[in-house]
Amino acid sequence: MKTRNAGTPSNSSLTERAIVIAHRGASGYLPEHTLVGKALAYGLGADYLEQDVVATRDAELIVLHDLHLDDVSDVAQRFSGRHRSDGLHYAIDFDLAELRQLTLFERRTPGAGTAKYPRRFPAGIGVARIATLDEELRLIQGLNQSTGRAVGIYSEIKDPRWHREQGVDLTRLVLAKLRVFGYTRPEHAAFVQCFDANELLRVHDELGCELRLIQLVGTEPAYAELLTPAGLTRVARYAFGLGPSHRQLVADNDGRPGITMLTTHARELGLRLHPYTFRREDLPRYVTTLEQLLEVFLGQARVDGVFCDFPDVAVRVRDSLRGLMNLAPSGGNKAQ
Ligand code: CA
Repeated sequence: MKTRNAGTPSNSSLTERAIVIAHRGASGYLPEHTLVGKALAYGLGADYLEQDVVATRDAELIVLHDLHLDDVSDVAQRFSGRHRSDGLHYAIDFDLAELRQLTLFERRTPGAGTAKYPRRFPAGIGVARIATLDEELRLIQGLNQSTGRAVGIYSEIKDPRWHREQGVDLTRLVLAKLRVFGYTRPEHAAFVQCFDANELLRVHDELGCELRLIQLVGTEPAYAELLTPAGLTRVARYAFGLGPSHRQLVADNDGRPGITMLTTHARELGLRLHPYTFRREDLPRYVTTLEQLLEVFLGQARVDGVFCDFPDVAVRVRDSLRGLMNLAPSGGNKAQ
């Protein structure tokens, strides 16, 4: 198994400019994780399209954010009585042929039945079916051929420990599928992301995956140890980068942005930074628009990528900042 020293880019050309990752597709405009939403994100100029991946009962892989289907589909109406004791309908309790019958909708607030983001796509209009990982990768590779672009994939292994408790080794299935589609090498336009640090370590050390790995982290206490300098040093041994909440990289200091020590520490270790989630509906106090927030991260904090629900906005801000930097005498080169 090859190892990568922290701070040594496997392919610097891929990190010369910040990448725009379409978060669950163009989810600000069309229901998340639908093929129409992915095609729109592609057309809006995203560099990478995100896939959250979960397994079905017959061990097929589908693109879905939650382990259950309740907040984005008509599963409760169509499969009444198939819920677990918590009232939720889990993808892994259904065969793919059953899941194909569902209609996907704009995300609803859990339990409330109303749209989580009321100004987005109308909640009552079903526009798509669940897509398999296979279908989504075919769409992206097909568009790459027809457009001549090289848009990448950014796959998340969703809760591998839970899947294992259900009898499925989700990680092996995902990596096998990516291999089938030719994603095997660090220079390929593919990332694998996961919140589970033990699992990402396994991906790197045991499963021989050479793709670039992104360690997702959150603000929960469970990540505190991982985010210490010692913890980050361990992460840098197997991961290409870190995917934190943007609030972990730039804090709200009485209404002004303040770059955190986590940003500094991660950079010193050569970890790239791909914060989530940039959306109009969730802005910190130090900005009033999504554009301003993106300027803080792409222009000041100089992150290496952003997960954005509105990929066209991130592309526009990124490219206008790059235009300004190229005019500056210093050149503004952020390649690491
Ligand atoms: Ca995700």
